[in-house]
Amino acid sequence: MNKTELLYEGKAKKVYKTDNDECYIVDYKDDATAFNGLKKGTITGKGIVNNRMSNHMFKLLEAAGVPTHFVEELSERETAVRKVKIVPLEVIIRNIAAGSFSKRLGIAEGTKLACPVLEFCFKDDALGDPMVNEYHILATEIATKEEVEKLTKMAFRINEVMKDYFKTVGIELIDFKIEFGKTAEGEIILADEISPDTCRFWDSETMEKLDKDRFRRDLGGVEDAYLEVYRRLGLA
Ligand code: UDP
Repeated sequence: MNKTELLYEGKAKKVYKTDNDECYIVDYKDDATAFNGLKKGTITGKGIVNNRMSNHMFKLLEAAGVPTHFVEELSERETAVRKVKIVPLEVIIRNIAAGSFSKRLGIAEGTKLACPVLEFCFKDDALGDPMVNEYHILATEIATKEEVEKLTKMAFRINEVMKDYFKTVGIELIDFKIEFGKTAEGEIILADEISPDTCRFWDSETMEKLDKDRFRRDLGGVEDAYLEVYRRLGLA
């Protein structure tokens, strides 16, 4: 499979069209941004960690019956994925209070939630990805009721699989963001990435942060944290 033209360049990835009409190639960069692009930087080696880790997670989820866009890892930073139209929603699942949830509700970071929380944000950089509920989604026709039900069911299933898996490598899955895509046939599949850029990972013993919060909050040891997760997944 060969790249033909650059389709899109985002904050952390480039997406190329290919000579295969069914596939795109994703190329993961080391560029990092936070706070809707306000903070910019580089995390050396991040593209490799995020590419290989996402593929590892997608394979694990496929084995658990979750359809994903993963096709084939082509190199350290490049992966062939199924061509989809991204549903313009960020789907967030939270197991433990952190980040914007803690701020908004005044609940201390690290507080265990009685049950997992699902949030939707409308993907629009100019608007700062505002949080929306099912009524907003249906009223503005971002997605249909059937699609919202499907995304919800898949997101909770993904949470169960991931939470159990990360426990086995000494990591608490605090929260994460996922995105879904729609194939030409109308099938909804998991897309985008699953990495320390998009999940909060805390060491189960020490509660040390092993994710992008080290970059967002200038905690230092950013590269080491990404490598530690990579190592625990047996990818180093
Ligand atoms: N997240 C993400 N992309 C975003 C916003 C959030 O991947 O544009 C992830 C983030 O890494 C965390 C979860 O979604 O794992 C919940 O993030 P939160 O709403 O607490 O926002 P933040 O504190 O990151 O602004």
